[in-house]
This record gives sequence, structure tokens and C-alpha cells, in this order.
Amino acid sequence: MTDERRELEDGLEALGHSASATQLDSLLRYLAALEETNKSFNLTRIPRHDYVRLHLLDSLAALCAIKSNKPLSIVDIGTGAGFPGVPVAALIPAAHVTLLDSTAKKVRFAAETAQAVGIVNVSGLHARAEKIGHDPKLRESFDVATSRAVAAYPVLIEWMLPLVKPGGVALALKGVGYEEEMSGTESLLASLGGGEPVVHAVRLPGSDIDRFIIEIPKVARTERRLPRS
Ligand code: SAM
Repeated sequence: MTDERRELEDGLEALGHSASATQLDSLLRYLAALEETNKSFNLTRIPRHDYVRLHLLDSLAALCAIKSNKPLSIVDIGTGAGFPGVPVAALIPAAHVTLLDSTAKKVRFAAETAQAVGIVNVSGLHARAEKIGHDPKLRESFDVATSRAVAAYPVLIEWMLPLVKPGGVALALKGVGYEEEMSGTESLLASLGGGEPVVHAVRLPGSDIDRFIIEIPKVARTERRLPRS
């Protein structure tokens, strides 16, 4: 077994999850494709030796807040090179993950590469989050919205919650300092139809890095004027 495969398997176990051999293969092939493409098109600044921990395990930390007992529609906002959307899709085959980004080339890389390595439950969407939130076909249509490293919390909730249906959740993947970003957002959150946020603290396996999954339940409809574009 390669070191990378063991790191992924052990890390998943530490996070309380497991993956089949096929799922592990797909994820590791995805990382290899990312490394290759990154030579000619800047998709990530994370060093290669940190891909498993900082791309895969960090993305999969979000699973603690996704109840996957029914088929789910998930949108990953600002997916970039496909994180957290592609790893989440790999581990929840019953979900469909829409990989949304404002850069067409990134969307194409993530969706086409995921499909090529056998993660077929994804599709790409080239759009700006603040515009797509007003599209009647997509507004309040997703069970779950995710986002990592895209914008400050007040911006993120305004981009995520309009896309989530009442009863669903928005998940912001954040690092230390998230409390400051959250302060003073109560009134915006209420206008967006968001309920009381729940924060899940996760220590990334094999590191002293703390990550925080901020889970915001969608408890009411979003006011029509939001998101502001
Ligand atoms: N989520 C990925 C990750 O964690 O590796 C990528 C993070 S990257 C720093 C931020 C991404 O957000 C970029 O790919 C950028 O194109 C996208 N983005 C920025 N503003 C956006 C918007 N208004 N709508 C959709 N995507 C946006």
C-alpha cells in the first residue's frame, strides 16, 4: 500500500468514516490528475505532499454535518479545483454534487476529472454565486450548500443560503478566527432564512490544525432581495 493511500485510509478512520477500495482509488487518481494539471494551470498552491490532508481530509471533515440517509442534492460554491465537492461526492454516491465556480476552466477541470476517475455523481456549473441565487430553477433547490476558502462568512451565507431549500443546511468550512467573521451577522442571517448556527470543531488527522464546520440550518424562505449582486 502506498504512503498516500495509508494516510487517506487512516485519516478517514480518525474522522469516523471509511471508504471502499474503489473510492480510495478514485480519490488518489483525482489528486494525481490535479498535480499534473497544476503544472500548466494554477489550480492549487498546496504542496503535493499535503494534498491528502489539506485537500481530501479537510474536505471530508464536512461529512460530520451531512446526513446522507436519503439522496441529496449538494452545491459546492467556489469549488475551484473541486474541494470540498469532489471528495464529498466520492464518499456519498447517492448524492449529486453541483460544482459551481465563476472560472469556467476550473469547473471543467473538476467535473471532467471527477468523471474520468469514476466519481460520476457530479456536474459542473459555471456561474457567479450571487447571480445564480436568483435563478428560479436553482433558488432554494439544494439540500446542502458547501463552501471552503471562498469568502468571509457574511458573504458566504448570502451566497449559500438562497440556494438551499427550507429544511436543508449550509456548511461553511472555516479555520481559526471564524468567530470574528460571524459577529454582527444575526440580522442578515434572519433575512436569509438561516437558523442558529452549530459549529463542529474537527482536528485534522495527523496535524495540530483545527477546522470548524459551521452548519447553518435553513429554517425559512430567503427574502427576495437577497443575494445582493
Ligand atoms: N473551494 C476551493 C478550495 O477550497 O480549494 C477553491 C478555493 S479558491 C481560493 C476560491 C474559488 O472561489 C475560486 O476558484 C474562485 O473562482 C471562486 N469564486 C470567487 N468568487 C466567486 C463567485 N462570486 N461565485 C462563484 N465562485 C467564485
